[in-house]
Amino acid sequence: MAKNIAILGSTGSIGTQTLQVIEAHPELFTVEVLTANNNVALLIEQALKFKPNAVVIGNEGKYAELKEALKDEDIKVFAGKEALAQIVAFGTVDVVVTATVGYSGLLPTVNAIKAGKVIALANKETLVVAGELINELVTRHNTAILPVDSEHSAIFQCLTGESGNPIEKIILTASGGPFRGKTYEELKHVTPRQALKHPNWNMGAKVTIDSASMMNKGFEMIEAKWLFGVKPEQIQPIIHPQSIIHSMVQFADGSIKAQLGVPDMRLPIQYALTYPDRPKSAFGRVDFSQYTSLTFEEPDRKTFRNLQLAYDSMLQGGNSSCILNAANEIAVEAFLQERLSFTAMPEVIEKTMETVNFIKHPSLDDYVETDKESRKVAEEWVEKIK
Ligand code: MG
Repeated sequence: MAKNIAILGSTGSIGTQTLQVIEAHPELFTVEVLTANNNVALLIEQALKFKPNAVVIGNEGKYAELKEALKDEDIKVFAGKEALAQIVAFGTVDVVVTATVGYSGLLPTVNAIKAGKVIALANKETLVVAGELINELVTRHNTAILPVDSEHSAIFQCLTGESGNPIEKIILTASGGPFRGKTYEELKHVTPRQALKHPNWNMGAKVTIDSASMMNKGFEMIEAKWLFGVKPEQIQPIIHPQSIIHSMVQFADGSIKAQLGVPDMRLPIQYALTYPDRPKSAFGRVDFSQYTSLTFEEPDRKTFRNLQLAYDSMLQGGNSSCILNAANEIAVEAFLQERLSFTAMPEVIEKTMETVNFIKHPSLDDYVETDKESRKVAEEWVEKIK
């Protein structure tokens, strides 16, 4: 039986790669729902090719264009934020791939879990913002989250067959991004153009900037905590510039398992969609004659302060990581628009975390409020700090 897939954010980096995986295995998957925020041209192209049951465009101003282009097809067409959040509950959907970027992934993911859908989670911000609440919902609605993030997929693969064996430590690898080894002084004047050049991974703008600033690794520590039920001190980030080892798990006996592969997101995407099976793929293979050394180094938490800020928010719990995420989204946007320097991003985040009220046990409404408030406060700090 083919799995019916909904892709939230089908025109982005993860979305388009998910469609490549699906295209390679037409016998395993049916595309049921595709959604995009703005890129109506690509959404139309994808809809004509994969013939989903329904499509949603977030930007309502583009509804007419989408509707017109698909008028001869048997495809339902919707528009707007509300439709984006509701479409995941569609009765025929089995798996929802959350491939959107940022906080906007939260509400659709909550709705999908409530509808009992399996989540292939690429939107790490969902767990960063509201990991505790998401885990409660997953348990209550008896469903599952399968990680798409390459590190978490690696950990998940290492844990397969190990049920009952406690994790001693998770070793989360990081490429170090384009600015590895740079000093604080050198980082002060880097441009968005430089930050957008990632050495190993081809990703969207937001996650590429997060990688350059190490916030991505900070988020991934938080994501790992919620996905695998470990304590903050059990997660060790380590720089591994070759990005061949995608992460490791150390068990109580001291043994370490690692998952390796070429840096290609289609591999973790495919594993999330076909778990526990491993169908043949045409992706690249690691040739160890080309990688004669795999190296490791300690991350520089002083220069890349985001890593420390994320760790602190994880220790604090409550709505702290929600504040961290909102402030980071504002800071990244300001940096990309050249309204804020690279090194001022952690300053904005730290100040926002100091300013916004802490809530120990937030409800979903509290998270929504915290996000809104934190964005406002972060914008004010951007104006003051820039
Ligand atoms: Mg990752």
